[in-house]
Amino acid sequence: MARKSVLILGAGAVGSMVGNKLAREFRREIAKGEIEITVLDRSEVAVNQAGFTFVPFGYFADDDLVRPRRSYLSPRLRTFLGREFEIKDIDLGNRVVKVSGGRSFSYDYLVIATGASFDLKQVPGLERDFNSFYTSLEDAKALGRKIRSMEGGRIVVFVPKMPIACPGAPSKFTVMLDNFLRAFKDRDRFEITFLWPSPNIGPPAYNENITRNLKERGIDDVRGFKYREVDPERKVVVGEDGEYPYDLLITVPPHVGALRGLSVADEDGWVPNDKFTLQYRGPAGSYDEVYVAGDAGSKEILKMGVTAHFQAFVVGENLARDLMGIEERVYYRGHMGCPYVEESPTPASHGRATLAVWKYGVPLSPFKAARLGWKLYRMYYLVYWDTTMRGLM
Ligand SMILES: Cc1cc2nc3c(=O)[nH]c(=O)nc-3n(C[C@H](O)[C@H](O)[C@H](O)COP(=O)(O)OP(=O)(O)OC[C@H]3O[C@@H](n4cnc5c(N)ncnc54)[C@H](O)[C@@H]3O)c2cc1C
Repeated sequence: MARKSVLILGAGAVGSMVGNKLAREFRREIAKGEIEITVLDRSEVAVNQAGFTFVPFGYFADDDLVRPRRSYLSPRLRTFLGREFEIKDIDLGNRVVKVSGGRSFSYDYLVIATGASFDLKQVPGLERDFNSFYTSLEDAKALGRKIRSMEGGRIVVFVPKMPIACPGAPSKFTVMLDNFLRAFKDRDRFEITFLWPSPNIGPPAYNENITRNLKERGIDDVRGFKYREVDPERKVVVGEDGEYPYDLLITVPPHVGALRGLSVADEDGWVPNDKFTLQYRGPAGSYDEVYVAGDAGSKEILKMGVTAHFQAFVVGENLARDLMGIEERVYYRGHMGCPYVEESPTPASHGRATLAVWKYGVPLSPFKAARLGWKLYRMYYLVYWDTTMRGLM
């Protein structure tokens, strides 16, 4: 067998699942030097960002959400982790990737799984009053301290624009915020406003549940909100149709693709891919040997861990077939999913949640949250490192 190489850019959710799956399936060929699988990431430490939503309310500690990447990446992979491996250039024509430390990596097959990043500058004034649970574990913890220090006032949860990772997370956070204030503060002394850029949150069945939930909680639920700026001096969010004053502003910042500025990406940094095969179809041309998966991909494909999970298995399987010379493909059929939280537990009540899943052409059915759903949701983040990230399930 001629030597073949796979290069995976990013060792987050998708990169780890694809790499670990291939390392397991091709362990003999790797041992014989016939196949080489390389993973690059600009950091040595992984953080499960999906857990950030819970952090301000004390549900997860650092140890639950942070792991050294080497603890879950197979030793059969060639791993290059750290600042000197920040991707600086991807030349699809010549099959070469250059990194900040000066090294170049060539490949036969490439996986782009570099996820999303943030651009606060898109909202004038935002940088001068920025609190968020989206951007880092530290930011989520700092936000929790601010919420706990308040005894009353106006809290605005502000989502300026789409796409964002996990579009269900901001409303889920708002539900948990309301629960937290009811359990540990005097809720009557707070007003909560939710500013959302589009008419619906998720597909109709999801939107129906969350709209009712926010209404029953007395949350001011503003849809189709079009922002102009944040004015930190006057403490208002200015929109095209009015102003929303706040004492604490919580923002989900505009997202961009992590590879913004590179020739493979569109103007917002997303790396366009075919919605079924996930192969690269972007500004640099069409390349069948290049797969793009997870948050990094086309802006039209929803960005969620669940999506990343399904896509990773499709890409992993098609790469396995590429390496074995099998032409038949498997396709990503658009599986997407969003956890829904009806309520988080308080000393006086149980949590209730569920995972809503849908796919291309098959709408989400009406659903209900359950107590078990909340427990499974919490437990999942604990087993995540040894199951999902190892590419086992
Ligand atoms: C607050 C929040 C809550 C969420 N909640 C949920 C949820 O409840 N359910 C759900 O399904 N999803 C949720 N998500 C979404 C989920 O976390 C993401 O969709 C998922 O992590 C995407 O995986 P990925 O592999 O595409 O990207 P990532 O896991 O972000 O991995 C990208 C990797 O690429 C690396 N990288 C980026 N740029 C470069 C570069 N230039 N050079 C080298 N390396 C680079 C990064 O270091 C990173 O390790 C949530 C996200 C957030 C932020």
